[in-house]
Order: sequence, then structure tokens, then C-alpha cells
Amino acid sequence: MIKPKVAVVGYGTIGQRLADGVARQKDMELVGIADVAPTLALRALKEKGMPYDLYCAIPDNISLLEKAGIPVTGTLDDLLKKVDIVLDATSAGIGQKNKETYEKYGLKAIFQGGEKNEVADVFFHGYANYEKGLGKQFLKLTSCNTTGLIRAVDCLDRAVGMEKVAITIIRRVADPGDYHRGLTNALQVDKAPSHQALDLMTIMPHVNATGILVHTPVTHGHIITLVATPKKKITKEEILAQFNKHPRIRVVRLADGFLGNASLFKYARDLGNPRGDMYEIAVWEETIVPSGNDIMFAINIPQEAVVIPETMDAIRASLEMQKDRLGAVGITNKYLGMK
Ligand code: NAD
Repeated sequence: MIKPKVAVVGYGTIGQRLADGVARQKDMELVGIADVAPTLALRALKEKGMPYDLYCAIPDNISLLEKAGIPVTGTLDDLLKKVDIVLDATSAGIGQKNKETYEKYGLKAIFQGGEKNEVADVFFHGYANYEKGLGKQFLKLTSCNTTGLIRAVDCLDRAVGMEKVAITIIRRVADPGDYHRGLTNALQVDKAPSHQALDLMTIMPHVNATGILVHTPVTHGHIITLVATPKKKITKEEILAQFNKHPRIRVVRLADGFLGNASLFKYARDLGNPRGDMYEIAVWEETIVPSGNDIMFAINIPQEAVVIPETMDAIRASLEMQKDRLGAVGITNKYLGMK
């Protein structure tokens, strides 16, 4: 089997995890990563012995990287000549500019949630619309919240049909280590509907969605509460059975000590997961309650790692490595060590 060759451009919060994710896919080859400056992530990579070859996207900055003792294998153009597909995880908006370069090399590329939807042919989610990504040149992943939200809604939608969802997102304001949002102690409300609800409808147009987002001064995960209107009555036991069957959904219990986002982050660290990452969203069993004919529940979104599996699915779809959704997501799950 010829393994597709993959590049990761932008080695920040998401790029580091995408690189590790690709390295774990036994049917893909990570050729290298690209970035522009001696960031802490690159300094850490160097201290780990440069497991991935680094290419510099701004040739003038090669000396800057070398001055920091970080070996550089070549330029971004050198990297792009060697690969079949690019995972662009640069800061939001840069991907749109990079697209021209990817086009020049006739490459396929997968963009992350911070880019505008127009950057891609398809707005993609591995479980909800895998087939739409088949063979497409440019795919864009949903954002972290939308990725997790769609996992849960699609899971129940496939079981009983889903008419409507209304969501409240309690959003971590920054990633661990970020200083650019300041030292905050306030909540901030966005105007409704939040982009995650609109994005859900782009991917699942048959579900009517709306929602409100509240920024909170925490860094370890978002929490979303959902009020969902199923097409058929579904019991709590049936909901739990559906969630329990889903390889990317982890059902947890308050009674077991999973009290909130911080418990899940700590648990991921106790599992020994690199960087305290968790690929799965979590659903709290005790939050699943009926509200008239609707159902309500809360999920945890580990924002730094949640989009990694669906991005691996996007590679599979774009390169038509697997034609069927469940075959593709199953292989991704296996290599990432999910149930
Ligand atoms: P980040 O700032 O942590 O990393 C971006 C990296 O890209 C940095 O290392 C930067 O040096 C590098 N970069 C900038 N310009 C570049 C260029 N021209 N060529 C190569 N590298 C360049 O950002 P992030 O949080 O990893 O976000 C990346 C994308 O993922 C965004 O679209 C974001 O919206 C999306 N996303 C972020 C999260 C999250 O929780 N952080 C979750 C899901 C999706």
C-alpha cells in the first residue's frame, strides 16, 4: 500500500496535535511540519529531538530558527513538493492566503475552523457528512465546539431523527498558555444565534438550530448544554445506549467524580494522554433530562484535541482512502486508540 504523504502547516495548539494524530495513522506518512518562528512549540519539539522535520514558511526567518538552535529541513515550497495533502492549522485567516500556494502545487488541503467557509469546497464532519468530502480538493473542518456538538446531535439524529436543537455554549476564553486575551475575570455574551448553531445547519440542514454563547475565563474545555427535539420519543436509557455506542463520545457520571471540565482535563492527564488531551467529547449521564417532548443534556468539548479525529477523516475522504463513512471513521478511531 502506498501511504499518502501529509504535511502540517502551522505547528501551534492544533498543528502539534494534528502532527501527532497523523503520525499515529499507520496508513499515512507525516512528511513534515511548517511554521514561521521559534515558538515554544518548536523549542519543545527541538528539546524532544526533532521527531518531525521542520520547514520554514518564511524563508527570511530560517536564520531566526537556526539561531534558536532549531534545525530547519527546508522551505514550505520544499515541503509542498513532497506531499499529497496539507493540513493547514495556521492562525485564522492565514489559511485563505496559503490556499493559493496549495493550488499552485495542485495539492489537496484541509483547513481548520478559524477560516471562512468559502476557503473550501466542503464544510466537513467525519460522522455527519463524510461522503460529501469524497475526492474534494479543499475541505474545512468545523470548529471545536461545532465538531463536538455535531457528534452528539448526529448520533441521536441517526437513531431517531432530530427536528430542532437549542444550545447554550459556555466557552473557554483562551487555550492554556495564552496571554493575548489578558488576565480576565468576567463573562461575555455574544449575540445570537452563535456561529456553531448556524454551522450545524450548514452540515445538517434538516435540523433547525439556534443558540447563545457565553465566554468564560477558563482554558480547559467548553461546556455546551443542548435542548433537542427528537422526531420520535426517546428515553434516557436509549439516549445513553446511543452515546455509549459512539466511539468519540464518552459517557461520564457526576457520581463518579466528573464534576466539570477540570475533572475531565485532570482525568486525561491521569490517563497519561499527551498534553492532557482527550479526543472524545463527554456527556454527563446525570444531565440527560426530559423537558416536555424535548431532551436536555450537557457535553464537554476538549477544544485543543476534539477536531483531530475528524481532520484524519477529512484526509481519508479527500484522498478517497475509504468510500464509506463508518469504514473511514473506524480506521481513524482505531489508530487514535479510541474504543
Ligand atoms: P495557534 O496560534 O496556536 O497556532 C498557529 C500557528 O501557525 C502558530 O504556531 C504560528 O506561528 C503559525 N503560523 C502563522 N502564520 C503561518 C504561516 N504563514 N505559515 C506557517 N505557519 C504559520 O492557533 P491554533 O489555536 O492552533 O488555531 C489554528 C486553527 O485551528 C485556527 O483556524 C483555529 O480557529 C482552529 N481551531 C483552534 C482550536 C483551539 O482550541 N485552539 C480548536 C479548533 C480549531
